[in-house]
Amino acid sequence: MPLGARAMTPADAEIISIDPADGSIVGTVEATPLSAIDAVVARAWEAFRTSPWRAMLPQRKAQVMQEIARRIAAEADRLATLQMRDSGKPLAECRAMVDSAAGSFRYYAGVVETMETEVHPARGAYVAMTVVEPFGVVACITPWNSPIMNEASKVAPALAAGNAVILKPSEDTPLLAPELARICLEAGLPEGQLQVVQGRGETVGAALVAHPGVRMISFTGGTQTGRAIGKVAGERLATVALELGGKSPHIVFADADLDLAVAAVAAGIFGSAGQSCVAGSRLFAEESVYRQVVDAVAARARAVRVRHPADPQVEVGPLCSFHHRDKVAAHVARGLAQGGTVLAGGAIPTGADYDAGAYYLPTVIEGLGPDALLCQEEIFGPVLVALPFADEADLIAKADGTAFGLACGIWSESFRRAWRIGRTLEAGSVWINTYKQSHISSPFGGFKASGIGREKGIDGLRLYGQVKSIFLGLSDQPMSIAR
Ligand code: NDP
Repeated sequence: MPLGARAMTPADAEIISIDPADGSIVGTVEATPLSAIDAVVARAWEAFRTSPWRAMLPQRKAQVMQEIARRIAAEADRLATLQMRDSGKPLAECRAMVDSAAGSFRYYAGVVETMETEVHPARGAYVAMTVVEPFGVVACITPWNSPIMNEASKVAPALAAGNAVILKPSEDTPLLAPELARICLEAGLPEGQLQVVQGRGETVGAALVAHPGVRMISFTGGTQTGRAIGKVAGERLATVALELGGKSPHIVFADADLDLAVAAVAAGIFGSAGQSCVAGSRLFAEESVYRQVVDAVAARARAVRVRHPADPQVEVGPLCSFHHRDKVAAHVARGLAQGGTVLAGGAIPTGADYDAGAYYLPTVIEGLGPDALLCQEEIFGPVLVALPFADEADLIAKADGTAFGLACGIWSESFRRAWRIGRTLEAGSVWINTYKQSHISSPFGGFKASGIGREKGIDGLRLYGQVKSIFLGLSDQPMSIAR
């Protein structure tokens, strides 16, 4: 397999998982032929209609989901190691993602057991109530950056809502989804309730999105793909939830605790090698402290321990694949053609520790205008652009001046100002004097081109259902035609 190639055999019959730390083959899975998609969808409907899952009592359903969580936790070490090799992320981070996957099932076990539906005050001789029905068959399409965590955060609520789920992982990280499906089955989820299909997004993924039997699509990935999916779903009026990209501003005011702010700015962009939708990829520092903050972040970038993901000292591992690393390098080169100064990184590292892997150095760039390519486009790598701001109005115009609106970070000792800026900026998540906090009970999603819908939280289960109003007549009088 030449470095940089997509991880599929020429006939697209097999998907090969390549360890981006050294280029070795981790495993292969069979690709789902396009001709099999109809049968997969039919099997999902069959499971939805005939398996006991949909009508299962909530306390019993919760037991199965708790058991899935327990089994994920019991296999955590093995799953984390597999994910590390599949995606290149540091082992400790993969371990945290496996814990998060178990947590999603545990959380939605609690939600499904305690969820209430509503009875509305009567406005006539009837009882009016609301129930939430599953869609039937839901497709969950996930990216390569956080496989088991993203997969569980979709599959757990979609199953809890009573759906049959078809999961399509990225062809770059195909190994965790089948493990999740196996664990679900072993824990007591009925056959066919969760199926995994494997293959390219433009073929297998697109076939699922276009299939009239798929009633709802939950997608996480790039904005361009999200648009394409939204277009097809819109045409056939299928429901979509889209969790897309970002170009999140990380803002440092002069009155902030600058040591804490600098550490968080570095963690916010270099964590996960920048392959995070909420990466704080644009640093805005107030003019009076701009030089001090940017120099400190650049020094931190140069000191980052770029290592093999299994090294206990690793801070940044390789990128997820060779072709993605090359895309990041090309993106930076294209952006720098518009100007800008590289203060740290800006290159593929060389030497015995790096030559076999898909590494890219933590990078800090300044001297570009807010409309430059590198300040507008999502790079999805460890690349930070730094910009000064003069005052709040200047900051808001620049920070909101991209197509995205996923998240932002604000560092200031003035809670009034942080609150004001946080309420004003167009972002789905706002972190004040912290960054990248996320958990299953807080809703997550984007403004503008960063997405549609909110995942997680109690309402995350309702995302996978449709509200139905039921009226139960109480009158024993014949209805009159003219009311
Ligand atoms: P994509 O958006 O292309 O992929 C995400 C998932 O969608 C994968 O499973 C992919 O399959 C699938 N897919 C691709 N095209 C289609 C389609 N037409 N219909 C249905 N499914 C499809 O992300 P990439 O992996 O190509 O990354 C591109 C960029 O997206 C990144 O550089 C980054 O900017 C952003 N991104 C954002 C993420 C986020 O968390 N918001 C996560 C990942 C990427 P397959 O991979 O098998 O082709």
